[in-house]
Amino acid sequence: MLKSTKNIWLLFYCIIFTGAMLLATAIYMKQQILLKEAYNEQLYVSKNFNNHLTSIFNEHETILALISHEFTRHNSIQIEVLDDVINNSPLLVGFALFSVDGNIHSATSNLSQSNYPNLLNNPHTAQWFQRTLNSERMVIGKSYFFTPVQTWIIPIRKRIVDSQGQVIGVLSAGLDLKALTRQWNATEGLGNTLQAVLDESYFRILRTELSEEEYDAYYHAPVEATILQELNSYLQQQQLTLADLRHSEAYMQISREIAGQTRLSTLNYNPRYQFWVLASQSDDQISRQLYRFAGICSAFYLLIIMLFFMLCRWIISLEKRQIAELTYKAEHDALTGLPNRTLLNKQFHKLQSANRPFALLYLDLDNFKKINDSFGHSYGDQILIAVGKRIQQSLTVYRGVAARYSGDEFIIFLQSDSKKEIAEYATGLLTIIALPYPINNNNFKITSSLGIARFPHDARHIEKLLSYADNSMSVAKKKKEPHLFFSKEQHYQLMRNTEIELALHHAIENKEISLVYQPQLDKENKLFGVEALVRWHSKKLGFIGPDIFIPIAEEAGLMPQLGLYIMHQALREITQLKKQLQVAFQLSINVSVRQFMQSDFLDKLLQACSFHSADKACITIEITESLFIESLDTLLPLFEALKEQGITLSLDDFGSGYSSLHMLRKVPIDELKIDKSFVDHISEHQADQEMIKSIIAMGKNLNISVLAEGVETKAHVEILKHAGCDLFQGYYFSKPLTIEDLATFVKTKTQSSYSTLALPSLINS
Ligand code: C2E
Ligand code: CA
Ligand code: CA
Repeated sequence: MLKSTKNIWLLFYCIIFTGAMLLATAIYMKQQILLKEAYNEQLYVSKNFNNHLTSIFNEHETILALISHEFTRHNSIQIEVLDDVINNSPLLVGFALFSVDGNIHSATSNLSQSNYPNLLNNPHTAQWFQRTLNSERMVIGKSYFFTPVQTWIIPIRKRIVDSQGQVIGVLSAGLDLKALTRQWNATEGLGNTLQAVLDESYFRILRTELSEEEYDAYYHAPVEATILQELNSYLQQQQLTLADLRHSEAYMQISREIAGQTRLSTLNYNPRYQFWVLASQSDDQISRQLYRFAGICSAFYLLIIMLFFMLCRWIISLEKRQIAELTYKAEHDALTGLPNRTLLNKQFHKLQSANRPFALLYLDLDNFKKINDSFGHSYGDQILIAVGKRIQQSLTVYRGVAARYSGDEFIIFLQSDSKKEIAEYATGLLTIIALPYPINNNNFKITSSLGIARFPHDARHIEKLLSYADNSMSVAKKKKEPHLFFSKEQHYQLMRNTEIELALHHAIENKEISLVYQPQLDKENKLFGVEALVRWHSKKLGFIGPDIFIPIAEEAGLMPQLGLYIMHQALREITQLKKQLQVAFQLSINVSVRQFMQSDFLDKLLQACSFHSADKACITIEITESLFIESLDTLLPLFEALKEQGITLSLDDFGSGYSSLHMLRKVPIDELKIDKSFVDHISEHQADQEMIKSIIAMGKNLNISVLAEGVETKAHVEILKHAGCDLFQGYYFSKPLTIEDLATFVKTKTQSSYSTLALPSLINS
């Protein structure tokens, strides 16, 4: 995975994690807020409830106090007055006056006295009746179903004391429980169940949210023991007791677990009327609100995460696309769209690691530069694109990849191990590349050369394969062969040539170059001239013949320099010798194509002649016929100029190439040198003899003297003489000689005329 992709995912996970933490925090905080709100509401409702009950009880205590005061004053009270009070009070159910023993004394007219129970004997009243007798204050009793009026009441009782402070009776009244509950229910309980519970006995005075059917169960039994236990244990945890709460009158807020459900409760003690106010609610509502909140937040969170996820995916895909685009650009050639070197290397490593045999084909367009130079680069580009397409096309049948390697060079990896198949492919490819390229009404034709190296047969490394294929391609181009497979021999040859070329650079300065001279004789065996032949004794490579190194020097562009050196050396040595021996003969100097083509060739030759005080008329320039064919017209003026200077022009290796008679007539040649290959077989082959004869005859006709080289036997001499040859050169007369040996040769020659082979010991280096 890419580093940046990794980072993006890391960021994404961070966002998920941070988001989850935030979500959890938000939910937790929301829960705290909801709890706090619920407790605040509960506190408010509790206080309200407590105040409500207190004010009702206060109001009715005042009524009871007034009535009992009246009773004490008059020692009796009129029932009509009490009836009046009841009729005007919506909550009061009735009044009754009891004697200290619990028996009824009198009652409002709505209560029948006859079936009125003794309050000290009735379990619903006894405890509280007793307490009333002992209390200065109004005492609230346990709520119960009051049969005389067939309704549920909260009994309130106050003792009546005479002027001596003696308790003389109890005034009892009933508050309509249902009416009171209704009254309360009209206010908002905010989801809380509220109850007022008597202290000590823990019977309920009032509980909200009860239906009438439930009254019996709730009012005739004390508050469930479990609630008390739990309360107590909770208080213990807080290191408090109910007694502490009684004193403090504080509102205690508790959260309790009941049957797996959390209940929030607020507890408070009313000391005046000695009851507890207990407000409680389950946390269901909070939970519901919390779930809703959590649901919304989670949905929002998920949405954001999804958006981020999509964003990340988008960024990554965008990045991937960009990278793919960049990689494509980096690995492909902008012009042809073919893979470039980078991709080629990649492909190579793939094939290499899979050890799959393949052929590396190195294709180079011939003379592509010419198209660029003469028609412009846009034509060149169009041809390159077309070539690229044709190469691609060639790979639809064969398995392989093609790449543009550089300018007009293409590389193909052909997945094949069969030399035959590779050759077939190469031939086909060269054929389609050679087809015309129609561009802007021009039909371009271009040929190409192909060198082939095979993996792993020839080499295992790309550099080697490339260099082998490149070399083979160069050789193919030179040899004008369409394609050439790499061979070890060819490779060694190239290596050797490279070695030679490197050493050749320092040959002159290292004084490794010397000259030998091979005598040329006329029909009378008299010395006519000598041909200067170069010798190279390399310190590093040993003796290397001119046949080998001259073409290399030519290729490497060393020939003008080397040729000039030879020219000076030959002129110096021969002029000196002639002067010394007081003889005259010709000096033939071989001039290579490149050297001859130099614009200042003639100037340099003339300079050298005057420098060494050489007679221009005694100088022959030997040039090979291939030169004429290539650039005859441009060279004609030079030939004319040489002629004007009295310099002799000799056509070397005549017959080995493609010389035409037409050319011979055009060029001012003085001498023809019949190639050694013709002379070799004249004694055996009649045809060669005939050939030589006609060459000589033709020379005669054109007034050109004829020299035969490579004359090795007496038979050669006789046949040539018979045919009318003018001049002779060859081992039969002498091998090429050092300047010292030449001096001896010349001396002997001038003293005695040549008879048979005279100088067997004078052998060239
Ligand atoms: P070339 O100009 O045709 O020289 C004649 C070659 O034939 C010489 O070989 C000579 O030694 C050889 N030869 C002469 N007579 C006989 C014979 O009877 N039998 C046999 N087997 N060989 C004979 P060399 O010296 O090795 O030169 C080879 C070629 O190198 C020359 O062919 C010439 O093309 C080139 N070359 C030699 N010296 C020079 C030079 O100074 N300048 C240039 N440009 N080329 C040179
Ligand atoms: Ca020659
Ligand atoms: Ca020759």
